[in-house]
Amino acid sequence: MSDTADSQQKHADELYAEEGVWHVNVDAGTVFAKRIPGKYRTIKWFTMSTWLIFFLGPYLRWGDRQAVLLDIPARQFHIFDITILPQDVWLLSLTLLFFAILLAVVTSIAGRVFCGYFCFQTVWTDIFTLIEEKIEGNPSKRRKLKDAPLDAHKLRLRATKYFFWLIISMLTGISFAAWFTDAYELWQSYLTLSASSVAWIVLGLFTAGTFILAGFMREQVCFWLCPYARIQGVMYDRETILPTYDFNRGEPRGKLKKGETEAGNGDCIDCHQCVAVCPTGIDIRDGQQEGCITCSLCLDACDAVMDKIGKPHGLIRYASLDEIEGHPTKPFWKRARPLVYLSIMVIAAAGILYGLTHLGSMELKVIHERSPLFVQLSDGSIQNRFDIKILNKQDKQIRVWLTAEGPEGLELIGADEPLDVDSGKLRSHIVYIKVPRQNLLQSRTPLTFVVSNVNDPKDVVRYEGAFFSPRRQ
Ligand code: SF4
Ligand code: SF4
Repeated sequence: MSDTADSQQKHADELYAEEGVWHVNVDAGTVFAKRIPGKYRTIKWFTMSTWLIFFLGPYLRWGDRQAVLLDIPARQFHIFDITILPQDVWLLSLTLLFFAILLAVVTSIAGRVFCGYFCFQTVWTDIFTLIEEKIEGNPSKRRKLKDAPLDAHKLRLRATKYFFWLIISMLTGISFAAWFTDAYELWQSYLTLSASSVAWIVLGLFTAGTFILAGFMREQVCFWLCPYARIQGVMYDRETILPTYDFNRGEPRGKLKKGETEAGNGDCIDCHQCVAVCPTGIDIRDGQQEGCITCSLCLDACDAVMDKIGKPHGLIRYASLDEIEGHPTKPFWKRARPLVYLSIMVIAAAGILYGLTHLGSMELKVIHERSPLFVQLSDGSIQNRFDIKILNKQDKQIRVWLTAEGPEGLELIGADEPLDVDSGKLRSHIVYIKVPRQNLLQSRTPLTFVVSNVNDPKDVVRYEGAFFSPRRQ
């Protein structure tokens, strides 16, 4: 054998030696996946790091309050300068629709990218298993430790691991709660044991949930529990690009002998490295399957094997079923499914944009007294009664003037003083409008109420209504 063939055989023999410890996930037991460096592992680190926003976001200040605060008791969501009240809940619905459709678009184009790169379950599990590996060693050591009797050594390793898991789980619980209340005050209340019972319950639930789901259940959640894994099938089609084993190139698989694949064999040397690194413990060579979270770690593993045996990368690669089977393929912008999803997403995005730019700082509603619609006063003038409702959508109290524009001689009664409206509150105020009878030429005369902010004359809302009077003879 040449030097190159020798070294290829040596590498292959090393992989075959550990092959026995990798098995396909069929029994809901703990998966101990092998960690290897690679292009997709690096991408995964970048995407996982976006979760730092979850941990650090609540500490960002905006003026005298938290930049993003989901204030449920006050029923106000603050996002920098924008305040969203329950009246604007349609905006929240559109936002949820946008993200649901975004998930569908991405899934139809590139499978469960969200699961493999962003999902909290896979991200937290990845961090927990990294800690486990640092403390307990590689997968084969961890598997042995799992089956070993509990002695001082095992107890020490387990206690150390659980300690770090617990810290991360508690930080997760505190960070979640911090989006709903002032983050600095929350820390103070936890540290002085004066937090509300709700804050303690949230912390307890999130700590326990994170500890169990990321520490013990791991990707079994993706495999057996996650509803998204079940519904993804309806978003895929033959043109969806997924991590795929190229069976044309790989089969028939066979062991590397004397540094070479046997005559007639494909490029797969049956080393099981793709199974070894798979966090859900599946064998991608069995074809596309619901256990695949599209993390692409098997691409890194197989490319590393190909490097060692001198074959080109891409035996496992991002490809559609059509491409692998040699059928013509279309780019995603020419496929009906992603285009339909994208259209819905654009409509939702347009609605959100419209909502955000038209939220306004006040809302005005006017309810006309119906019974009676009008009264005739002793001086002959006609009077209508109105219930004015002013909603302050700002995060501070405002002072407003109420005026009215309409028929000549109109007199507004009950609005001599400016009105104070508390932040996020609706203020109701009764006023009367009186108009000389001779100035009313029809039974229904247009009338406009105007509310203007005393401290900001440009902050004005108007309401188009009507003034009612008896029919002229
Ligand atoms: S597909 Fe690649 S990593 Fe998997 S067994 Fe074959 S050669 Fe090894
Ligand atoms: S088969 Fe590959 S892409 Fe799918 S979950 Fe396993 S390692 Fe990730």
